[in-house]
Amino acid sequence: MSTGTIAAVAGAFIDGREHANGGDPLPVTNPGTGEVFAEVPGATARDVDTAVDAAARAGAEWSALAVSKRGEILGAAAHHVEAHLDELVPLLTREQGKTLRDSRIELTKAVDTLMHYVGLAKTLRGAHTPGLDPGVDGIVLRRPLGVVGAIVPWNFPTTLLCNKLAPALVAGNTVVAKPAGTTPLTTLRFCELLAEGGLPAGVFNVVTGSGSVTGTALVRHPRVRKIAFTGSTPVGEQIMALAAPGMKRVTLELGGSDPMIICDDADLDAAASAASMGRFYNCGQACLAIKRVYVFESVADQVIEAVAAKAKRLKVGRGDVKGSQMGPLHTAAQREEVAGQVARTLEHGGTLLAGGGPPEDPELEAGFFYAPTVVADPPHDVPMATEEVFGPALPIWRVADLDEAIARANASPFGLGSSVWTRDLARARQAAERIEAGYTWINSRTKVYDELPFGGWKSSGYGKEHGSEAFDYYTETKSVVFGSQS
Ligand code: NDP
Repeated sequence: MSTGTIAAVAGAFIDGREHANGGDPLPVTNPGTGEVFAEVPGATARDVDTAVDAAARAGAEWSALAVSKRGEILGAAAHHVEAHLDELVPLLTREQGKTLRDSRIELTKAVDTLMHYVGLAKTLRGAHTPGLDPGVDGIVLRRPLGVVGAIVPWNFPTTLLCNKLAPALVAGNTVVAKPAGTTPLTTLRFCELLAEGGLPAGVFNVVTGSGSVTGTALVRHPRVRKIAFTGSTPVGEQIMALAAPGMKRVTLELGGSDPMIICDDADLDAAASAASMGRFYNCGQACLAIKRVYVFESVADQVIEAVAAKAKRLKVGRGDVKGSQMGPLHTAAQREEVAGQVARTLEHGGTLLAGGGPPEDPELEAGFFYAPTVVADPPHDVPMATEEVFGPALPIWRVADLDEAIARANASPFGLGSSVWTRDLARARQAAERIEAGYTWINSRTKVYDELPFGGWKSSGYGKEHGSEAFDYYTETKSVVFGSQS
């Protein structure tokens, strides 16, 4: 559906200015109203080539700067973005659907991540090993990879971009980013603001378009040395295969189905709040989210009742309407996917305690809304247990003890996040050691810290983002030996 004016957008930002893509126009839809409000031509393989070319040219000068100078330039550019948050927040809400509050949280975090790596720029140190042999020393050099392709999904377009952009740029690489075809606008403006804030032309470029055309062209491009990807596991697997020729480096941040374990000695009110917040924020469209709850039998009734009550109380509404706590799903297809997973689960058992379909409010009919949904005790082999549910639907199971909870938690192809709720330190430690996941929160949930490395185990990904470890994935090291062997 389209009403009102449809904005025409050039579709790319290359070498410090707008660039008109040559591909077919892709619609940008407001998920809260179903209205198409912009059309953006997709980048063809030729447009991608232009962007990679610009990034490669800019890389010569950028990589030669002192690392502290790169940090200084990026910091000034990030402050310029920060000064324009009031403009970016409604734009992100309009194209993504999330509430204005969540858009501000996301954009603030994106700038924070840039500033985190700006801070690290002055602390980078290398290794020096004296005495390898008599009179022989070794050092380890770090060199940027070159042009990095960053491919990002629609659920957090700016934070997921900055997780890649910040370490890549500080390490001396240049970047060509491809946002999701459905969320191009905030990323284009973000890029333009960084350029206005002093980031040199060509250091950061954006090409918008579909994954199949623009994304594939970026992954296949011979001068792109690394693909930093966040998205679904099936697409991550395709990208790993496409990147194999030439040994292109990859980091893959993929899907998750994070378990939450609630023990009988936990603060049950806090745990119930966390289950609700951790499942329903961003309308459940988060990689790190509470997606399966396992609660000890003796306290299960109390927890299940509390979570269902919270789900029913959540105010679902358009992202730009004051008071909305949960916005719509991002697309109609995404809503169908979640509705299908819930329906196929309930066919096999489980008790529906909240939601289970679109909300009844007629004002929300045109948008892609789905009510916060809670299902208790479905079988363990249904879609809500075995697949990633990327929407506001939470299954809860009763378990006998910690051993059963951990076994159930690990019986998933995914290994992204996890949380354990207990007052017993020994239990917490045991769970943290045995759960197969890249993150375990004890008595807290889902918050990612720039200070700590983050990356999924098993089908949830490969490589790390965040932490100083991220630099390892944007540099090559070289061992150099200074010696006098005869
Ligand atoms: P997709 O994998 O479908 O898309 C992600 C990005 O890849 C989009 O920009 C998409 O473009 C692009 N793309 C799709 N196909 C290709 C291809 N063949 N070659 C190159 N690029 C391609 O993921 P979703 O959009 O469904 O995003 C949600 C997923 O992301 C969930 O599984 C979620 O768990 C995961 N995620 C993981 C995170 C983590 O850190 N581990 C964080 C956040 C989300 P387009 O959309 O235009 O087709």
